[in-house]
Formats: sequence, C-alpha cells, structure tokens
Amino acid sequence: MNLILLGPPGAGKGTQAKRLEQAHGLVQLATGDMLRAETASGSELGRRIKAVMESGALVSDEIVIEVIEQRIAAPEAKDGVILDGFPRTIPQAEALDAMLAGHDLKLDHVILMEVDEAALVDRLAGRFSCRACGASYHERYHRPKREGVCDVCGSHDFVQRPDDRPEAVQKRFEVYRQQTAPILPYYRAKGILETVDGMGEMDAVTKAIEAIISR
Ligand code: ADP
Ligand code: ZN
Repeated sequence: MNLILLGPPGAGKGTQAKRLEQAHGLVQLATGDMLRAETASGSELGRRIKAVMESGALVSDEIVIEVIEQRIAAPEAKDGVILDGFPRTIPQAEALDAMLAGHDLKLDHVILMEVDEAALVDRLAGRFSCRACGASYHERYHRPKREGVCDVCGSHDFVQRPDDRPEAVQKRFEVYRQQTAPILPYYRAKGILETVDGMGEMDAVTKAIEAIISR
C-alpha cells in the first residue's frame, strides 16, 4: 500500500506517518527529514539546501525528486511507503506518477489532513524534538514524561527547527497556499483524495486515517 499524507506545515503528517509505519510495516519517506540529513552531512549541496529550508522556501523540484526516487526504488520500500512532505508542487506530483508507473507501483490513498492555520502557528512555535532519535514534542501539548528526558531514547538533548521561527512559519504557509494547495485538485480529479479532520486529538486522527486505509 502506498499513500500520501498532505496538509500544511504542522498538520501532524510526521506524527501520523510514524504511527502508520509501525502499525502497517510501511516505510515513511519524509523529504524534510531527508533534506535535513543532507544538510547535517556538511556537503556543499547540504549548505545550499540549509539556507533555503531555513527561509521557509521550497528546495528545487529537481533535488527533491532525485532524493525521493532513490528511496521509492529501494528494497525496503517494496511493502509500501507513506509519503510525508512530498509531493509539494504540481511538477513533483507529475514526477511521482511517472516514477510509480516506472516501478510498477500504484498510489492507493491521498489523505489530506485539514487544519486551522491560526492554530498551526501555535503548534509549530512550541514544537521541539530529540536530537538523538528525532521524536517530536510540544511545550504545551506533548511534553516528555520526565522533564528534559526523551521518552523514546532517554537522550537529554533537544532541538528546535530553525524554520519553526515565526517569520519562517509565515513563509511556509504562504508557500503551501501558492505552490502545494494546487496539487489538491490534481488528486481530486483522479478520485483518490480523501480528507480527515486534523484538529482532533492525535488518536482520533489516527483512527480516521485507519478507517480510510482499511477500506
Ligand atoms: P513541514 O511539513 O512542517 O513544513 P518538512 O520537514 O516536511 O516540514 O519540510 C521542511 C522544509 O524542507 C520545507 O519548508 C522545504 O524547504 C523543504 N522540503 C521538504 N519537502 C520538500 C519538497 N517536497 N519540495 C521542496 N522542498 C521540500
Ligand atoms: Zn530520543
């Protein structure tokens, strides 16, 4: 089963993707995480990507498509993938169709997580994650069980993403409206776009997604 999770920055795509990954043996392909890994490598390409990401703009279609293509074709992906953060533009959606067709794969569900933008600014601003394992937390909604200690791996080292600063958050929403929202009609026209309410509790959102994919 191959699916796409869509929605604006902070909609909770990563959280839900991780849950689906565990429950269904799928592989989460998060372009944001892949690009952050590239920036962490310190390569010249990484330095260029870092500047773009921190501003809240999109990395070029060319780079992102290349990054995702390698992973979709990899053996780990054979039981299915959850695309999180890709596609984000019409050319990316078209490239995805071509690469799936080329590997004899099909897209089963495109799930849009609908959320209220005002609430998202708040979600993103309070967001932080474990530097060691990437587990995500929130200052108000999801603190570690033991203050200062990661629930998942026990690390004491937490980081905030530079693009979760308010200026970059505004830019990311603008980019979503202008460049990513146009892919919704693209998938609606194919009859595979489904919607869940992303404003509920995390468990309720998981249930709604499960209901769609078990059909
Ligand atoms: P969020 O969904 O919270 O904005 P991501 O981790 O998915 O966070 O993305 C962070 C940044 O990585 C984006 O703002 C963009 O700069 C870059 N990025 C991620 N995926 C893509 C993509 N498919 N195309 C272009 N840029 C991307
Ligand atoms: Zn951790």
